Amino acid sequence: MDKVTIGFIGLGNMGVPMATNVVAAGHTVVAFDSAGTEARAPKGTRVANGVEGIATACETLLLSLPDGNAVTEVARQIISTPQRTARVMVDHSTIGVEAARAVHGLLATAGIAYLDAPVSGGTLGARQGTLSLMASGDQALFDRLDPVLAALAKNRFYIGPEPGQGQAMKLLNNFLSATAMAATSEAVAFGESLGLDPRIMIDVFNASSGQNTATSDKFPRRILTKQFDAGFTIDLLTKDVNLYLEEVAKGTNQDVIAQTVGHLLKKMMSVMPGADFTKIYPFTKEQSKRN
Ligand code: NAD
Repeated sequence: MDKVTIGFIGLGNMGVPMATNVVAAGHTVVAFDSAGTEARAPKGTRVANGVEGIATACETLLLSLPDGNAVTEVARQIISTPQRTARVMVDHSTIGVEAARAVHGLLATAGIAYLDAPVSGGTLGARQGTLSLMASGDQALFDRLDPVLAALAKNRFYIGPEPGQGQAMKLLNNFLSATAMAATSEAVAFGESLGLDPRIMIDVFNASSGQNTATSDKFPRRILTKQFDAGFTIDLLTKDVNLYLEEVAKGTNQDVIAQTVGHLLKKMMSVMPGADFTKIYPFTKEQSKRN
């Protein structure tokens, strides 16, 4: 795929660094965010004055939006744009299996291809271009888009042909990630109550079998430094675990741990909506003091 014009919708914590990397790879990027594009558009991008401006400026557009409602709204706007040139929508948002299937169906009625392609790796991975990307949909399309996707995600996985399979993979991942955060927070808070030093605990975990993404990344970088700046809100993580629980509820698999983690996240979100999810640690510590 040669250097092309790419539309980018959703310039938030993830969208800004992802769009920046697409520009750095030599593509022309036309960007839009409903909360104000001028203030958010990364250097080198062209500012679109609406979804319609994107739908008529490019063939391929990438999305990094909060949830299924936002993606559906944008898909509807694209479909209803007269003289649209958009033919392919790549969705990097986490929207869940059902929403991905519905958006795929909606776009198919207008002859627009949908690649379900959520990402993992946080804002640091987005800045460094080291995200992992889990895509589902047409494999030939996935292969054709690889030069663009490579600009933002070092690790690109093709999960399967059905829309929603990429989302399913992402929900499994975020359930594990949330569980690691919740369990590590509980363990460290208890260790502190026994008089152990949190830094020493984290060093020990990282050299032992308790090591996980919370001990190797979130605790040393964001929590022990008191930065709490992962750039991923508790609201978005709660959404992800809820989507996971909704999927599990459709079958017969057990969800004992997911229920517990989901309950904790929901409780934290009601107390501190919009907080960085790494505040799960102070929240857990505070909760254990009260009980
Ligand atoms: P964010 O809230 O920071 O950014 C979302 C952006 O979308 C906002 O700027 C918002 O104004 C814009 N937006 C919302 N509705 C819109 C619409 N209809 N049209 C145009 N723009 C619209 O969220 P984020 O943290 O960047 O996450 C984006 C997606 O990526 C989410 O689905 C999230 O679950 C997923 N994700 C986030 C992370 C992370 O670490 N933050 C990591 C992996 C995946």
